[in-house]
Amino acid sequence: MIEFNSVSKTFQEITNTFPALSDISFAIQKGEAFGVVGESGAGKSTLLRLINALEKPTSGSVDVEGITLSTLENKQLRPLKKRISMVFQQFNLLNNKTVAENVRLPLEIHSHSVHLTVDEALNFVGLEDKKDQYPSQLSGGQKQRVGIARALVTRPDILLCDEPTSALDQSTAEEIVQVLKEAHKAFNMTIVVVTHDLPVVKALCQRVAVLEKGELKTILDVNPSTEPA
Ligand code: ADP
Ligand code: ADP
Repeated sequence: MIEFNSVSKTFQEITNTFPALSDISFAIQKGEAFGVVGESGAGKSTLLRLINALEKPTSGSVDVEGITLSTLENKQLRPLKKRISMVFQQFNLLNNKTVAENVRLPLEIHSHSVHLTVDEALNFVGLEDKKDQYPSQLSGGQKQRVGIARALVTRPDILLCDEPTSALDQSTAEEIVQVLKEAHKAFNMTIVVVTHDLPVVKALCQRVAVLEKGELKTILDVNPSTEPA
């Protein structure tokens, strides 16, 4: 349902010695949890930004549910884009809004015929008792739970996660991965998670793409049941 066909992306910067992405082809199945790993500068963020049409490929095409994104105008992209949610490394919460207001925001930007209520979304991440607090009153892990609730409230078909655990300590990171895993199971979404954190991939993903300097080195099956104890 997400397909990269010979995608290259070059930025017109003389400082870049290699393309952000070089001739990348792969497909992510509907409902799959797919990881993307690689060092800083490998092209991970660019790959995510191509999926939600914040960037266009220099060559090749990115198709979501059979639609080539670069053929659509911004207005035509809207129905597709509103079914994609994003979870960020630095949470991206609005500090002058309460937890409930932050979670409600995506519902106010676009109308969604099917969605969770704010209470349902907060309940899912275990933060129903924090709805009237402000982000500054929360721990990092709680902030990320709010970020996940905000992503889930629209019942997205695709959840893009950009380093969702990188700002958190290890035990909090493990909790956040469990929340994402439960969300994947409960809502039957496609998840694409970009991370430096291999344990995140192991706990959450079915497959993982390894990027190196803009090249797709390999796609590995992740199968925790066959890992040695
Ligand atoms: P990663 O997320 O793996 O750290 P990025 O996708 O952010 O990698 O970046 C890949 C490469 O593309 C890097 O060399 C980066 O400097 C370059 N790049 C990314 N975005 C831009 C941009 N908007 N303008 C110029 N160069 C960019
Ligand atoms: P990450 O570590 O999550 O990849 P980066 O710091 O690489 O984040 O990039 C943050 C943002 O800056 C992204 O939107 C990316 O496209 C942009 N960016 C990255 N490298 C460059 C660059 N060399 N010039 C301009 N923009 C860049």
